[in-house]
Amino acid sequence: MRRLLENAQIVDGTGAPARTGAILIEDDRIAEVGATTLAPDEVLDVRGAVVAPGFIDMHSHSDFSLPGAPDAPEKILQGVTTEIVCNCGLGIFPSNARVEKFYELISPVIFGEPSAGCYEDLDAFAAALEDRGVSVNVACLIAHGNVRNAVMGMEEREPTSTERAAMAELTEAMMAQGACGLSTGLVYPPGAYAGTEEIVELARVVAQRGGYYATHMRDEGARVLESVEEALRIGRESGASVQISHHKAAGRFNWGKTKRTLALVDAARAEGLDVHSDVYPYTAGSTVLSAMFVPLWAFEGSQHALLDRLRDPATRARIVEDSKTRMLGFARLPGWLDRWFPKRLFLPLLLRELSRVIVISSTKHQHHYEGKTLHEMAQMRGQDLYDAMLDLLVEEDAAVAAIAHVMDEGDVQRVMRHEATMIGSDGFPQREGKPHPRTFGTYPRVLERYVRELGLLTLEVAVHKMTQMVADKVGLPDRGVIREGARADLVVFGPERIHDRSSYEDPKRSPDGIDHVFVNGAWTVKDGAHTGARAGRVLRRAS
Ligand SMILES: [Zn+2]
Repeated sequence: MRRLLENAQIVDGTGAPARTGAILIEDDRIAEVGATTLAPDEVLDVRGAVVAPGFIDMHSHSDFSLPGAPDAPEKILQGVTTEIVCNCGLGIFPSNARVEKFYELISPVIFGEPSAGCYEDLDAFAAALEDRGVSVNVACLIAHGNVRNAVMGMEEREPTSTERAAMAELTEAMMAQGACGLSTGLVYPPGAYAGTEEIVELARVVAQRGGYYATHMRDEGARVLESVEEALRIGRESGASVQISHHKAAGRFNWGKTKRTLALVDAARAEGLDVHSDVYPYTAGSTVLSAMFVPLWAFEGSQHALLDRLRDPATRARIVEDSKTRMLGFARLPGWLDRWFPKRLFLPLLLRELSRVIVISSTKHQHHYEGKTLHEMAQMRGQDLYDAMLDLLVEEDAAVAAIAHVMDEGDVQRVMRHEATMIGSDGFPQREGKPHPRTFGTYPRVLERYVRELGLLTLEVAVHKMTQMVADKVGLPDRGVIREGARADLVVFGPERIHDRSSYEDPKRSPDGIDHVFVNGAWTVKDGAHTGARAGRVLRRAS
């Protein structure tokens, strides 16, 4: 089967200026670009539209949703043809009974469609996807939280040498199955219980097979600089290429710090370290409510143990106390001020602000709280903030996701235009409620707002950040670029028509202006609608 896209404005993913020409797709490959010679079976005139390589979502959590919802409409309708999954140290594999139990309470609500549970390894996950068929390509990281949980459980301590060896062995086995690197989520237990040395060791295993190290850092607010330093140290000592996930400066007191975090990235690159970031085009983040407010120690053991601690009055009082101390840490003031300012006085103000910028996005049972701020939720319940939040966590089995409006547009733009930043959605397609719009609108929003309206990026550079820059980092040599011989993952869109329709109030809306999407040559979106094609593959890194 040969299909000709003619009169295309070709933006080839390399960052080179757009040019007009034709693209001939033969089966799953791009056979010719520019002036074509082979006779096509079918011709599609795309006059007025851009043809680009299919977007590669550098930061996805769809591993949990794809087995149950393999058509991936929220992504494919944005023009995404490949997703990099198992980010932030969380993932649907590797797994054993303990890991399975960890995700059982929260995963259907937080991560989307219920599936048959977790998978033992990458091979099992890939087999499940490929049996059913999947509409996007999938490349996998190794979730450090799973590796740690599988070997040593939810314990807040250093691993023994036997446990270290077991973790390295499991990481090595996943790399041998074609994983493209290691991800950490250093705010999420049990991954957050790991020290730097433990991660260096595992990153070294990954680096030896050419994989990279992606990290949701320990702190994205008051200690974001120290966190970037830790990521760079791990890269330096392990030899792994580094990816700073959803690079940001969270919290009013930290706005502007991306000047310094990006300077650290620049300095590391100048010394020869291979380090990049990804970003989503929003000033709000999203995660589980428990990760925002509950101290790490309270997660030890299991999710059930967490719920027991929240129910026990004495333990709960300690949780509240430690949580407040942690909140004050987010508001660290510069230098000497921080040491002398009586910050305790400041706490009510801080909590007042936080309770108004954090919005509940998904719950298991009490859906009337979705879309409400923490302040509104507490008022509805007639409780004070902490009582309301902690009771809600108990009632909902801790499965509460929230959106936090804590970033500054200046930081988002500074990170986005940085030469080593690519685009990633950080989407987790929650089944319930009003999930963060980034899951549905990241790519059209960058093209509409930051390219067309604000002129922050040229179209060519924006597409490069969505395609070849990602493919190079992850190690997908024949994707992310339009050239003869590359895989035919393509998106056709109207740069003047593209429009993101997803919002915080009504997130589950697909964009306008994405006309056609091809995945491995299969016509998967036609005139803006999903065709039902499932031509995606699990992409394994050759080492
Ligand atoms: Zn994350």
